[in-house]
Amino acid sequence: MDLDDTPQQAEYRANVRAWLQEHSAKAPVLTGPDALRDEDEIIAARRRWQGELAEGGLAGVTWPAEYGGRGLGPIEQVICNQEISRAKVPGILDVIGVGMLGPTIIAHGSEEQKERYLEPMLHGEEVWCQLFSEPAAGSDLAAVQTRATQLDDSSWRLTGQKVWTTNAQFASYGLLLARTDASVPKHNGLTMFIVPMDAPGVTVRGLRQISGEAEFNEVFFDDVQLDADANVGAIGSGWGTALTTLMFERITLGLGGEGLGYDPLRFARAIGAYESARTDSDVRQRLGDILAELTAVRFSGYRMLTGLQRGQIPGPEAGLAKVTIVNSGMAGGDLIADVLGPDALAKESEWTYMISFIPGLKSAGGTEEILRNTIGERVLGLPPEPRLDKGIPFEDLRAKEKEAAKT
Ligand SMILES: Cc1cc2nc3c(=O)[nH]c(=O)nc-3n(C[C@H](O)[C@H](O)[C@H](O)COP(=O)(O)OP(=O)(O)OC[C@H]3O[C@@H](n4cnc5c(N)ncnc54)[C@H](O)[C@@H]3O)c2cc1C
Repeated sequence: MDLDDTPQQAEYRANVRAWLQEHSAKAPVLTGPDALRDEDEIIAARRRWQGELAEGGLAGVTWPAEYGGRGLGPIEQVICNQEISRAKVPGILDVIGVGMLGPTIIAHGSEEQKERYLEPMLHGEEVWCQLFSEPAAGSDLAAVQTRATQLDDSSWRLTGQKVWTTNAQFASYGLLLARTDASVPKHNGLTMFIVPMDAPGVTVRGLRQISGEAEFNEVFFDDVQLDADANVGAIGSGWGTALTTLMFERITLGLGGEGLGYDPLRFARAIGAYESARTDSDVRQRLGDILAELTAVRFSGYRMLTGLQRGQIPGPEAGLAKVTIVNSGMAGGDLIADVLGPDALAKESEWTYMISFIPGLKSAGGTEEILRNTIGERVLGLPPEPRLDKGIPFEDLRAKEKEAAKT
């Protein structure tokens, strides 16, 4: 594999870099002494900046041109991310919408839905949220209980609750997975819907995190009316539609930490700038371990990228990147806390958010235990977890497997 840009990629990179040089003065300042402080101001500024990026072709790089994208491949998307990071400006605000929900609508939505929703999403005029998880449906997503009932006039009535919904506090729309038929096996009775977040009966309640922010929410639906054509994809095909979203989530996470809200390599290098990282052998050793892990992830990300460029769908090995990035981030948070002491969590510290936010990422986008099981079974070929939920004791399961292997 050749890791250098082809002449076309080098030209694309130069164009992106030139655009950023010309426009980066308009980017909102989110860190340092001049950083914006007010949450509403930050969101408004980031929406405007997303609009600028979209105008410049730096948002929705892989979206088809007919929906406002550039129609380019995943390598160009990564080049664009790298250049945004290099220019030290924020990326788009609506990573969930543009990275995961927009591509789901492109794959499964009607022409009217694509026409209506995609352009304002890309430009940050309408931010979206992902209404999948519920109090009793996280890892076991197909267990969702939020009900959508079709009425005589074909419109829908929605009742139920979602949780951990990132950005719901300022989202215009949500893509929601609901149960439309409770009489069939759980994966077959689901349908995906577009929900206006200002519809009567929608209540958003923020969940305040240890970092002080309230970035995700509980969302309640009390007899919310949805139009007859609010479904994305066919009635009952919601599980397949959700898998498309989760595949795009996997791509976002598998290609590096920016999809998780921080640039891990930049972070690790920033730790290296501290005096003790150069003089204290223990700190140097720990930093070296973190950088080695992140470098390995970057190269396995390149392997996934090659597969994507050839039209392959990312497999379960993409989960390895997420597990490694999150654990390296936590190890980095511990290290910076050891280096700086209590100052690491001081009000003006640039590390407070990272140290307190990253542990939550062990759950986001697939929990560590689920991902490790998947990697163990489907990448490394290890024997499956004992199915204790089905009442089969571990030894019996192993005996059955041995029996099956003989035949
Ligand atoms: C920062 C953040 C942002 C999020 N944003 C969104 C969002 O925008 N929209 C959205 O819909 N959701 C969002 N989520 C929710 C996320 O998708 C869920 O947290 C995730 O699916 C796990 O579900 P859960 O939290 O219900 O945990 P559970 O599934 O209840 O798991 C609890 C624990 O049990 C373990 N466990 C569960 N089943 C098994 C098993 N079979 N084998 C071994 N261990 C198991 C898990 O690994 C975990 O440690 C977000 C979460 C976070 C942390």
